[in-house]
Amino acid sequence: MVEGDGKGTIDTVQVALRIRPLMQLETDRGCDECIDVVVGQPQVQIKDLAFTYNYVFPQHITQQEFYDTAVKGLIGKLFQGYNVTILAYGQTGSGKTYTMGTNYSGSDGDSTRLGVIPQAVADIFDFIETHEDKFIFKVNVSFMELYQEQCYDLLSGKERGHSIIEIREDINKGVILPGITELPVTSTMETMMVLERGSSGRVTGSTAMNQASSRSHAVFTIIICKESRSDKNLATTSKFHLVDLAGSERIKKTKASGERLKEGVKINQGLLALGNVISALGDGTNRSFISYRDSKLTRLLQDSLGGNSLTLMVACVSPADYNLDETVSTLRYADRAR
Ligand code: ADP
Ligand code: MG
Repeated sequence: MVEGDGKGTIDTVQVALRIRPLMQLETDRGCDECIDVVVGQPQVQIKDLAFTYNYVFPQHITQQEFYDTAVKGLIGKLFQGYNVTILAYGQTGSGKTYTMGTNYSGSDGDSTRLGVIPQAVADIFDFIETHEDKFIFKVNVSFMELYQEQCYDLLSGKERGHSIIEIREDINKGVILPGITELPVTSTMETMMVLERGSSGRVTGSTAMNQASSRSHAVFTIIICKESRSDKNLATTSKFHLVDLAGSERIKKTKASGERLKEGVKINQGLLALGNVISALGDGTNRSFISYRDSKLTRLLQDSLGGNSLTLMVACVSPADYNLDETVSTLRYADRAR
């Protein structure tokens, strides 16, 4: 637990459930909804099961409401020196990318659809603008993709084969990624252009479930250095990781074979390790006993999960009856994280 903004303490790991609306195609095919939100409580019921989280966001919740309720308060924490990690988990098509705003494209035009990343970036630069008289701020961004237990720099401007990054741990500095591109940014627009450029280089694969299904984890990181103008020794550096995880669906359903099957196994290894780490953090397990080393994903995030950091896991689910099994599996995964 860490100090909240005068509202008592907040959990270091919080879980938000977000249920996307049925899509037109699903309604047209006569799909029914199979998940019920308990009125006035952060609880859902599905079959004969009930799950409670820190937040539950039903179908009608807008991007703005989601952000204001679950994310906005974390921005102030970043400027107090905490590391913040937001992870979107769920099967392909459940709303991870929509929620995070990872596929930002300025040409969309419709600001009501903006996800977490563009809204958070705007708040970060607003904060900076109103505190620049007392502090010097430096903001850098990196963007990487974890695919088949390999880490790629999406901003290197080089071919994929030449943009592989190693993960190292340094006793003083925490996780370091030698050679990764860290671009200095000074405005919301500049940051969003970097995000857009990086997203366009991502790996996508076609599976029976979703043509553009994302088979990799995308990690957009904003590093904020804040230094007091009156005392150079008063400085903090915080990392803000915004993670759009690979689809959590089990392999069977995607009719995967060969390369795809191999991918599925590796993806699940990362998600499994992440689940174990987050669940151990929630149990209050001593950090030195937590196995961050079981996957690249958890190694990469190890200094930003637990310790002096705040984590928000956003579990994304579809309400459609044909997704019931995957939805229950996501609800269980998120339940372990609490
Ligand atoms: P994922 O990244 O988990 O595969 P997407 O974010 O791509 O899923 O969402 C799948 C589809 O559902 C997209 O067309 C997206 O625009 C839509 N969608 C997801 N969540 C919502 C929501 N809360 N409101 C409206 N549309 C949504
Ligand atoms: Mg996606």
